[in-house]
Amino acid sequence: MAIVIRGLTKCPLCAELIADGQSIVSTPHFVESPEHPLWPFSDAAMHYSCFQKWPLRSEFVAEYNNSLGRMVWGNGSRHHMQPDGIVINEKKQ
Ligand SMILES: [Zn+2]
Repeated sequence: MAIVIRGLTKCPLCAELIADGQSIVSTPHFVESPEHPLWPFSDAAMHYSCFQKWPLRSEFVAEYNNSLGRMVWGNGSRHHMQPDGIVINEKKQ
């Protein structure tokens, strides 16, 4: 997961600090190529409210679900990102 130090880490979408108590969307590194337009946002934390207004939100969610979201973890679950950026554990039937 991205390292978030509240009061020090800046949201890459608005360049403001992430403060205590603010909801965030945060992911581990999942975009391979530094040339990829979403690369700066992989392994980052963003304000939940900024994420909802972000024009690349649906692309980001699709990219996550097509890479990390495909991995099946030891307990048989997958990490699926919902359209609002929240990741849920989805257990295979
Ligand atoms: Zn922000």
